[in-house]
Amino acid sequence: MDSPTRKTLQTTFRHALEYLEELDRAPAAATASLAVLRRQLLKPLQDQGVPPAQVIDELVAGVEGGLHASSGGRFFGWVIGGCVPAALAADWLASTWDQNAALYACAPAAAVCEEVVGVWLKDLIGLPAGASFALVGGCQMAHATCLAAARHSVLADRNWDVEEKGLSGAPAVRILTGGHRHGSIERAARLLGLGRGSVEELKIDQQGRLLESALQEALLKDRSRPAIVILQAGDINIGAYDDFETLIPIAKEAGAWVHVDGAFGLWAAVSPSLKHLLKGADSADSWATDGHKWLNVPFDCGFAFVADSEAHRASMSHRASYLTHDDDARDQIDWNPDWSRRARGFPTYAALRQLGRSGVADLVDRCCRHARALVRGMGALPGAEVVWEPQINQGLVRFLNPAPESTEADHDQHTDAVIEAIARTREAFFTGTTWRGRRAMRVSVCGWQTSEADVERSVAAARQAIEKVRSGQ
Ligand SMILES: *Cc1c(COP(=O)(O)O)cnc(C)c1O
Repeated sequence: MDSPTRKTLQTTFRHALEYLEELDRAPAAATASLAVLRRQLLKPLQDQGVPPAQVIDELVAGVEGGLHASSGGRFFGWVIGGCVPAALAADWLASTWDQNAALYACAPAAAVCEEVVGVWLKDLIGLPAGASFALVGGCQMAHATCLAAARHSVLADRNWDVEEKGLSGAPAVRILTGGHRHGSIERAARLLGLGRGSVEELKIDQQGRLLESALQEALLKDRSRPAIVILQAGDINIGAYDDFETLIPIAKEAGAWVHVDGAFGLWAAVSPSLKHLLKGADSADSWATDGHKWLNVPFDCGFAFVADSEAHRASMSHRASYLTHDDDARDQIDWNPDWSRRARGFPTYAALRQLGRSGVADLVDRCCRHARALVRGMGALPGAEVVWEPQINQGLVRFLNPAPESTEADHDQHTDAVIEAIARTREAFFTGTTWRGRRAMRVSVCGWQTSEADVERSVAAARQAIEKVRSGQ
């Protein structure tokens, strides 16, 4: 190998190990400001190139202070997983091998790897063995993929060929879902030309579950229009699960397509103590989930599954004379919205091999246990209040302003101030949300690295932050 390549990769390997070995001592989240990062990274695009090893050294220097330690043990912001070692390593190889995983002919081993991964995933999360699947960039694109199949199917039922004719003149599709849905649903509806206006928000109950009566009523109201019902398996605030066993038959009875958003929540199916939450979910028509959240595969990695594989293929597949299609093998282009793409199967394959069935179950259970310990521990601090005790790995805590006659608005402000003060300790990182009209701190545990010691350090950081905010520091 020519020496610049070797030198560059060795330099990179050293930087990677240093980063990972420092992760536990590093600040939990980025510390550099936008201005600082711009100063560090914004270099003129010079005329002459730079030797590759130097590029890497300077890139590492350029991102200093601008990386979240989100693959570490004390990053609880949004819903962000870490990456298990085998998946990280396989991800390096995916770049090294640089396969174009568009077709079997273009990347044979990558195509077969995805085939294997699809079979494993369906088995692991309890989806029908006959379902088709696609490895996409994330749950957002998994929604877009599944809903393209849904759009095909509900319009084909009304003798409308949407792939040929598009949507103008087509029967207007309705999307029925609860107020707990993720914003990626609206974006998928927009991308598919269904429009935000097609989304009808239905009532949810105190546990965050779509009301049976609300669904029934909505389906009855406008029977002539094709409908897609979107159910939630784990919402981002409280990890709420819709009652699949009750709702799916109602939707099916009305001829609707049922899609499940299980970005992280679908993984509860792997845990013997949690899988009851997904009872009946396997009778839906499509499911979207992520690899980069709870499975701890590096970004970007999401999975789409469709029970009616013909609807899925009809919505995506493409034939062209210059492509080499294979009758026997699985061509990803028949199932994916992308054309050229990264060989996403390799890191997922590696994560599943490293963890095994019981390893994934243990990862899920451990995250839930840590989420509960965090919420209870922080909820017991002076002035803190448990808003939602985790049923899975998501909970909510609120921090009350101790001043007499404080209003809810004061508590809202106080909560945000404590969230910020925790980040300033650099020990742990959380993000906020507005839930039922009030501010709260989200506790979201998705990473394999989080330990009991991390939970203790994070609760201690919250205690320190509360004291600082109270004393006006
Ligand atoms: C994260 C998330 C999404 C979007 O997934 P991406 O992987 O970010 O595209 C959708 N729904 C839920 C419930 C999520 O948590």
